[in-house]
Amino acid sequence: MSVVRIEHVYKDYLLGDQKVQALKDITLSFEPGVFLAIAGPSGSGKTTLLNLIGCIDTPTSGKIYINDTDVSGKTPDQLADLRNRTIGFIFQTFNLLPVLSAAENVEYPLLQRKDVSPEERKKRVDYFLDIVGLAKFAEHRPNQLSGGQRQRVAIARALAILPSIVLADEPTANLDHKTGEEILNLMKQINRAFNTTFIFSTHDKRVISKADRLVRVEDGEISILGVRSEEKKWMLARHRQAAETMASNK
Ligand code: ADP
Ligand code: MG
Repeated sequence: MSVVRIEHVYKDYLLGDQKVQALKDITLSFEPGVFLAIAGPSGSGKTTLLNLIGCIDTPTSGKIYINDTDVSGKTPDQLADLRNRTIGFIFQTFNLLPVLSAAENVEYPLLQRKDVSPEERKKRVDYFLDIVGLAKFAEHRPNQLSGGQRQRVAIARALAILPSIVLADEPTANLDHKTGEEILNLMKQINRAFNTTFIFSTHDKRVISKADRLVRVEDGEISILGVRSEEKKWMLARHRQAAETMASNK
C-alpha cells in the first residue's frame, strides 16, 4: 500500500496567454510513515506538487491516489472532506488566525468535523499543544509567540485531525537555523512516535539531511529519487532480523 501515488502527472498554469509547465510527467509513490523531503530550487515546482498531493489543486493530466483512492473524480466538497480527515498542512508563514488563541487555532480545523465532539476537541487541543511543548501558551495569540512557537502551534493544528499525511511547504524557511532545526526534530519525533507520513519541501541542505527519503525536483521534473543512509541501515537491520527469525524457525 502507498499513502500517496502519483502517476504521470502534468500541471500547467496559464499566465496571460502563456502556458507555464510547472510539473512534467511526475510518477512517484510514498509508503506510509515516511519522512520525506521534496528538494529543489525556487520555481522548480515544489509548492505545485504539494498542492496537488494535498488536493488543494488538481492536475492538468495524470492521476493522484491518496490511501489508494483515486482523487481525480471527486467533487470539491468530497475533496474538502478528504482534506479535513486525512491531510494536515504546515506553511512557511505559519498561517495562523491572528485573532484566535493558540488553543483556538489548533481547534479550528476540528470545528468542521461533525464527528468530533466538543469534549474530544478539547482533549485533542490539550494533548497536541502539550506534544509541541506549548501547554503553557494555550491562551496566547500568535503575535504573543515567537516564530518557532507559531510553527509549533501550526504543527499541533495539523496533527489535531489525526491525519495520515502532514504536508509542510518550506516549514523552516522563515525561522533561524537553530529554531528550524528544532522544528524539524520535533516533526521527526512525531513521525517516529505516531508513524504519521511527513512530506516537506525545502531548498535548505541541512533540512534535506534530516529526511529519510529525498525527491529532487528540477524545472518541473524529478531529477533524483533517494533513500537516505539512516533508512538504508534500518532496512538492512530489519532484513537481517527477518533472515535470523526465519533461520531460527527452521
Ligand atoms: P517552488 O515551490 O519550487 O518555488 P512553484 O510550484 O511555486 O515552485 O512554481 C513552479 C512554476 O510554476 C514556477 O515557474 C512558477 O512561476 C509557476 N507558477 C506557480 N503557481 C502559478 C500560478 N498560480 N500561475 C502561474 N504560474 C504559476
Ligand atoms: Mg514554493
